[in-house]
Amino acid sequence: MKVLVINAGSSSLKYQLMDPATKEVLAKGLCERIGIDGRLTHKVPATGSEYTFDIAMPTHAEAIQAVLSALTDADHGVIKSMDEIDAVGHRVVHGGEKFSASVLITDDVMDAIRECVPLAPLHNPANITGIEACQKVMPGVPMVAVFDTAFHQTMPKSHYLYGIPYEYYEKYKIRRYGFHGTSHKYVSQQAALMLGRPLEELRLVTCHLGNGSSICAISRGKSIDTSMGFTPLDGLPMGTRAGNVDPAIIEFLMEHEKLSAGEVIDILNKKSGMLGISGVSSDFRDLDTAIEDGNEQAALAKDMFNISVKKMIGSYIAEMGGVDAIIFTAGVGENDRSVRWDICENMEYLGVKIDPEKNKYRGKQMDISIDWARVRVLVIPTNEELMIAQDTAAIVGK
Ligand code: ADP
Repeated sequence: MKVLVINAGSSSLKYQLMDPATKEVLAKGLCERIGIDGRLTHKVPATGSEYTFDIAMPTHAEAIQAVLSALTDADHGVIKSMDEIDAVGHRVVHGGEKFSASVLITDDVMDAIRECVPLAPLHNPANITGIEACQKVMPGVPMVAVFDTAFHQTMPKSHYLYGIPYEYYEKYKIRRYGFHGTSHKYVSQQAALMLGRPLEELRLVTCHLGNGSSICAISRGKSIDTSMGFTPLDGLPMGTRAGNVDPAIIEFLMEHEKLSAGEVIDILNKKSGMLGISGVSSDFRDLDTAIEDGNEQAALAKDMFNISVKKMIGSYIAEMGGVDAIIFTAGVGENDRSVRWDICENMEYLGVKIDPEKNKYRGKQMDISIDWARVRVLVIPTNEELMIAQDTAAIVGK
């Protein structure tokens, strides 16, 4: 089976054509500047070739058409015709309380995804546009929606409610939803394979540390708590996001900086976190360069990040009554050895101890704990596209 995985943003669209059974990626790429002019970058992993085309993309429909043309092109294509695409899997950011698993897209499902727009006003409209464009260009091909929030729908109410009047949950569904669910689910499954134990026996803390970061407590295969909340702004300080702050700060800043609520939220989303503290960059590689040059603010930003992750891990271990493995994934978690080292430092009392030699590796799936450690620390490169393709194949195959 060949599945086309689509991740549509407002002016961009990422795609991968893959065989979920063999995990082979036949082609992948990116459409950028949709609605402006349009550029397609198309890669074929088997040959290592990469092509860039400037193609007019007034809407997402033209972008999808360009993707199909690239996939079937006589020179750099990987399939003979569109008929070889058995299904399309779409990443959808918010599934609200309606979706606790991936689903086949029907008219009713589309209505339900539209109902979630107020919960993710920046993301869901783009995802809907991507689905509609595919339906237009590929009529009759089954499509599946895979939600970032779905995996966390197993959280108990006592874990997902905020301590605000209950009526706001009833009226507006204000609660913790959590994101990065596809990634947390994928690495938890991989962890069980690496440990050679059933997921249903394991207590895991998965750390998705990238530009956006979230941590998840996974008890016996189910998400029971996660650090992102009603929106992805909650939890850890991230590349540009503040993470959790005392909400009274918002009113204080509005008054003293003469800002609207929206402007303060914008600062908390785009000018805070690593960028806001360091004044250098949101990118961890830039922070490392600055730290090497003696920049104390950059070092402070990273210290704040590491301690926030450590605090969250500790609270999740307490919630689960123990932990079998801590997993690091995403750009920072897979690559940044100093982050992993600092987070896991002084945790021998819990049975956590990283081997400094094994920790030198980057982007490689491996157990980096010392041999005697009771809790295993694992680095697992995430693969959200594979998870989407496998969910899609499972649903369409039924
Ligand atoms: P996104 O949330 O955009 O998917 P990623 O998971 O790709 O983010 O993570 C991006 C982050 O990973 C950036 O801050 C980048 O600096 C960091 N990163 C990538 N490679 C390395 C590396 N070799 N060392 C340290 N950080 C890295």
